[in-house]
Amino acid sequence: MVANNNSSRKQGVDKDDETPSPPHQVYLNGDQVYTCSGCHTHLAKNDDIISKGFQGRHGRAYLLKAVHNISLGPKEDRVLMTGLHSVADINCIICQSVVGWIYIYAFEDSQKYKEGKYIVEKAKISKENFWVQRM
Ligand SMILES: [Zn+2]
Repeated sequence: MVANNNSSRKQGVDKDDETPSPPHQVYLNGDQVYTCSGCHTHLAKNDDIISKGFQGRHGRAYLLKAVHNISLGPKEDRVLMTGLHSVADINCIICQSVVGWIYIYAFEDSQKYKEGKYIVEKAKISKENFWVQRM
C-alpha cells in the first residue's frame, strides 16, 4: 500500500535550507516620507523631524525622533562640533548604506536632549510626497 506522504513532514522542523529572508520593512504612512536615496526604503516621516538645522558629515542634516528600517553600527565615542558624544552609525537595512547616526549618550548637559535621537544626512535621503495617492 502507498502511505499517504502528506503528514510525514512537520512544518518548521527542518530548517536545512536557509533561504535568507529579506529584512522586515516597515512602510510609513504620511503626506511626506523620507526614504533612503539609494534604495527608496522608507526611513522617516515629516512628523519625526525635530530640526532641519543640523550639520552632518556630508553637509546639512536633520535631527529626528524616530527612524525606521535601520540597523545600528557599533557604538563609539565621537567628538562632534557640540562636544563628545557616544554615537552609533545607522544603516539602511536594505542597501546597508550609512544614512546618519544615533546619539546614545551626550557628555555635555546642554546636549542631553539629543540622547536617543537620530541624525540623518540630507544627502542620503530623498523626500517623497504621497498626497497624490490620497483618495
Ligand atoms: Zn537603502
